[in-house]
Amino acid sequence: LPGGRKPIQLMINPHKAYIFSIEIEVNQIKIVMFDLEIKVVTKSIIPIVYKDNYKKTLKQVFFEMDKMIEEKNLKLDNLLGIGVAVPGLIDKEKGILEFAPNLGWENVYISKIFKDKYNLPVILDNEAKAAAIGEREFIYPKMDNMVFISINEGIGCGVILNGELYRGASGNAGEFGHIIIDTNGPLCHCGNKGCWETLASESYIVNRYLKLSNSNKELTKKEIYQIGKNGHKKIIEIFKEAGRNIGVGLVNIINGLSPELLVIGGGIV
Ligand SMILES: [Zn+2]
Repeated sequence: LPGGRKPIQLMINPHKAYIFSIEIEVNQIKIVMFDLEIKVVTKSIIPIVYKDNYKKTLKQVFFEMDKMIEEKNLKLDNLLGIGVAVPGLIDKEKGILEFAPNLGWENVYISKIFKDKYNLPVILDNEAKAAAIGEREFIYPKMDNMVFISINEGIGCGVILNGELYRGASGNAGEFGHIIIDTNGPLCHCGNKGCWETLASESYIVNRYLKLSNSNKELTKKEIYQIGKNGHKKIIEIFKEAGRNIGVGLVNIINGLSPELLVIGGGIV
């Protein structure tokens, strides 16, 4: 307005504080330190060696975080908080990972464990839901109705409805990995048969390959993908099956929610 005070432009000093992002996957953990402009300051990816032992695994994470803090000459005062993403069902309020079947972790008090160690605010979320929020915020800010589908060993989804992440009554809405697409399909760890993730995830590709190939050599998913890229007929056939099955689930999501956009992420991409 005329006569008003001259506006002053304020800017954030991006190096005033830092944030840790810990992405726990099924076989590895990504540890990233961001500045306040959400630019990567430093990062590290560590394999999960003691899969059935969350305490040992989180100790490895702390070791890496401590190393980063030291390397960047920071004090805990320089850190704003820690965000942890997990591949499983959570109680967001209490910061508990209730169940991560592909990891074998149950009732892990993630937020408390990180808080006890660093005394910083901790935000826990499901990996697909955290990714959905990130995709909306940074890549598709105008998309008010979209679904992010994360296809790894299992399938996780984050649903953005009317511009906000939809969590439902339990807080874990969007578990489309467990919509049933074949009642005669393989048994899922949830107890049902033929859930989408038993027929369309990376685990499906690996299991199917192991079943169809006569060799007793167990290949990792990366090795299987590489052989497939080289033109291995059986594996290409498995990719096609998985692709068809992925399509079936996507059609169900489209018919059920009518999103403007589906984003597929995860290891399978
Ligand atoms: Zn299931």
